Amino acid sequence: MLTIEAIPAFDDNYIWCLYHSVSKQALVVDPGEALPVMDFLEQHQLQLSHILITHHHYDHVNGLALLKSHYHAQVYGPHNPNIDGIDHYLNAGDQLQLLGLSFEILAVPGHTLDHIAYFCPELAQQPRLFCGDTLFAGGCGRIFEGDAAMLQNSLAQLAALPPATLVYCAHEYTMANLAFAKALEPNNPQLLARIASDSSKRQAGLPTLPSTIATELASNPFLRCHSPELRQSAQQHSGHNELSEAETFAVIREWKNHF
Ligand SMILES: [Zn+2]
Repeated sequence: MLTIEAIPAFDDNYIWCLYHSVSKQALVVDPGEALPVMDFLEQHQLQLSHILITHHHYDHVNGLALLKSHYHAQVYGPHNPNIDGIDHYLNAGDQLQLLGLSFEILAVPGHTLDHIAYFCPELAQQPRLFCGDTLFAGGCGRIFEGDAAMLQNSLAQLAALPPATLVYCAHEYTMANLAFAKALEPNNPQLLARIASDSSKRQAGLPTLPSTIATELASNPFLRCHSPELRQSAQQHSGHNELSEAETFAVIREWKNHF
C-alpha cells in the first residue's frame, strides 16, 4: 500500500514522502533539508530510491547532495544545470514510471523559470499533484523570475486538472493566504467555510494539505480573477476601473506581497 506523508522542514516547508509499506521503497519531493528526511526514513525503515525536484530554490534542493550520497537515490528535476545533482532532466510532457506510479511533467514557470510540477493521473484511484511553490493552498508563489501573465498561465494549467486532484504544495502558508483571500472576497461562503475548517486543522497541529483543485477553484483568489467581488476589490485597491482578468491577477499578486 502506498502512503504519502509530509516531513516538516525549516519553518513551514513540507517535504512530501511517498512510500510503499511492503517494499519499503520511498521517494521524496523537494528535500530542502536532509536530516528530517533521514530521521523519517529511519523511523519507518524505508529505503530512499528517488528524489523529485520542482525548482532550484535552496529550500527545495539543499538536502539533495547528502541524501544522494547516503542512499544512492536517482534524482529527477527541471532542465536547469545550476541545480547540482540532477541525474535526469525533465521537460514538459515527459512521463516517468517510479515506484509503480506514473508521473506526468508539467512546465509551470512564473515563480521561477525552471519550475515544473508532477501530476499522477491515478494514484490509488485519485489524481495527485506535486506543485512546489506554484499553486499554494489558498494562494500562489511569488513572482521571482517570470511575470504575472506567465504565472497566471501556469496556474490555469493546474486549475484545468480534474477537480478531485489532491494538491500537495511545499509550504504551510494556508491561513495567511486565506486571510488575504477574505480581504478580496469577504462574502464568498465557500471561502469562509474553508477558513473555519482549515483553522481547526491548524489548531489541532495538523497540516491543511493536501487541498483539492475543486477547493482551490472555489476559494483561491489567484484562480478567481473572474469573480465580480474580487475584481471590484482589486479595482478599489489599484484605483483603476475596468481591470481585465489578467490585470486583476497582476494587481492582486503585487498586493499580496505587501499584505
Ligand atoms: Zn521557491
